Amino acid sequence: MRGKAMDNWTQWAIQRLASERLRTADTHLIRLNIPALEGIEIYLKDESTHPTGSLKHRLARSLFMHAICSGKVAAGTALVEASSGSTAVSEAYFAQLLGLPFTAVMLAGTARKKIEQIERFGGRCDFVTDATQLYARARALAQACNGHYMDQFTYAEQATDWRGEDNIAASIYRQMAAEEHPVPAAIVMSAGTGGTAATLGRHIRYRGYATRLVVVDPENSVFYDSFQSRDRGLRIATSSRIEGIGRPQVEASFLPEVIDTMYQVPDAASIATLRWLERLTGRRAGGSTGTNLWGALQLAAAMQAGGESGSIVTVLCDGGERYLDSYWNPVWVSEHLGSLQSYDAWLSRLD
Ligand SMILES: *Cc1c(COP(=O)(O)O)cnc(C)c1O
Repeated sequence: MRGKAMDNWTQWAIQRLASERLRTADTHLIRLNIPALEGIEIYLKDESTHPTGSLKHRLARSLFMHAICSGKVAAGTALVEASSGSTAVSEAYFAQLLGLPFTAVMLAGTARKKIEQIERFGGRCDFVTDATQLYARARALAQACNGHYMDQFTYAEQATDWRGEDNIAASIYRQMAAEEHPVPAAIVMSAGTGGTAATLGRHIRYRGYATRLVVVDPENSVFYDSFQSRDRGLRIATSSRIEGIGRPQVEASFLPEVIDTMYQVPDAASIATLRWLERLTGRRAGGSTGTNLWGALQLAAAMQAGGESGSIVTVLCDGGERYLDSYWNPVWVSEHLGSLQSYDAWLSRLD
């Protein structure tokens, strides 16, 4: 029997999301071959293989399910999001799947590939010039059309089912089961909304794993300082140069209580690591993957120096084809980040 609050559209939409889930496969866990790190294995959870190209595919599906089951989105509801791009790409895909109008509010200068992708999925793009205006603009747009502001930064940590089997944490542990060190000594992840770190940290506690959660933060972000001081009111005026991660304010979905350690990663180190990963695997990744992997490599070197062995898992968040004009353009890199030489030198010790 159906409750009276449940209309036909709601039931149809939930089925439509469930069938999309059935059609999509789990993402790969790639083991890197780094002989210099004897005794320590590093794995990359490759989230670039989702249908919308990033880990935000998981988040968008969860946000839609959460908003629909919470009665906030119904037939014809106009949707608005504030996004650095990846979330908007994934949300545009799900909005199109459900026949809902979608507008993304983004920073001017967001990667062109992402804008094209949003428009390809039928979404509209709206731009602001500084990161602190994003939220107010998105909220105002939603209000003006009596629509729904998806608000990933608030809902990311609530919308994901961190206990169950259908989340990134459970998937990592399932895929590690037959490895030499099946329970990773650490999982390393960066924070944008903070939602993925929250899911990882909660799942680790819930299942009682002896895994440390290490969160890495780029330059121009308040997460690192807020983790140290536990001050949630910190703000800065600058925007992160690593798309998808680092925020000018402490987002509601960032939960420092489930994080064991944080590292600050120089932006130039993130990009040097991307190039190193391409030499190692032939794969080009997005900027945040460089941040994650630099953190994982620093931790591996420290473990090795301390005589420890074990595994470390980190995340390949999206592919490099979105960033050919920036991180994969040597002119952009030298103009915005200067020389990568000292980080290249450190990384070359691992070759
Ligand atoms: C969102 C995002 C992240 C961070 O994930 P959160 O769960 O939002 O903290 C990292 N990399 C990329 C490319 C992203 O889009």
